Amino acid sequence: MSGSAITPWVVGNWKMNPMQADAQKLIQELKQRLADQHISKERCRIGIAPISIALLSVQQQLADASVEVMTVAQDVSRIAGTGAYTGEVSANLLKDSQIDYVLIGHSERREIFADNAQVVAEKVKNALAAGLHIIYCVGESLEQREKGQAEVVVLQQICDIAAVVNADQWHNITVAYEPIWAIGTGKTASPEDAQNMHAKIREGLSQITPAGARMAILYGGSVKPENAVELAACPDINGALVGGASLNAESFYQIAHAFAQTK
Ligand code: PEP
Repeated sequence: MSGSAITPWVVGNWKMNPMQADAQKLIQELKQRLADQHISKERCRIGIAPISIALLSVQQQLADASVEVMTVAQDVSRIAGTGAYTGEVSANLLKDSQIDYVLIGHSERREIFADNAQVVAEKVKNALAAGLHIIYCVGESLEQREKGQAEVVVLQQICDIAAVVNADQWHNITVAYEPIWAIGTGKTASPEDAQNMHAKIREGLSQITPAGARMAILYGGSVKPENAVELAACPDINGALVGGASLNAESFYQIAHAFAQTK
């Protein structure tokens, strides 16, 4: 199967935003936009990753949307189950609250909160065991890219989790390639560079698992309506993980629409 036959995903990562009233407004606007101009989930799967304390209220507000919008946790504890771990939320507790999707390995977690390869692998292992679907983020820094190490770094990040993923669990993983230098900077990887890396990621995944040919590989890094169509046209770019532009309902909708139309 070619990468372009895969249903695209467009997921908004709200990061540590917004205030409650703005979040409610944003969801209302998005629901209205989806009601006005429907995007079927066969053409594009849409998700939103709010702050952890808003997961349940966002999920509730999205319940009557005209199309399913996935509620995605931005992170998960590396500890499984329940117990004396102040401040942590385990994969089991997410699942218990019907939160079925989680981001793991976002570069902000890796860089600011010391989520190293071992921590990320523990999170992946526990999330899969709890039955969550993971959006696994990978990406190189500007320094690594300039040294010609981008591919090695990204493929290593895939290998970092390979040992904890069982053969039958790969279909529960979506990969998001997010070059760190493109996140929140307004700089986007060129469609050619992004496509090249996505093709390498698919090749790497396919060497590990037959599911690699069918896994969605999202691009993240300053995606906006203005560049979404070009990115969506690349065969191995199967959607987007969207930060800044997901805080505006119209922009986020337009990105999802671009992927739904182009794929
Ligand atoms: C992100 O943080 O996942 C992201 C891609 O951010 P932005 O779209 O703002 O670059």
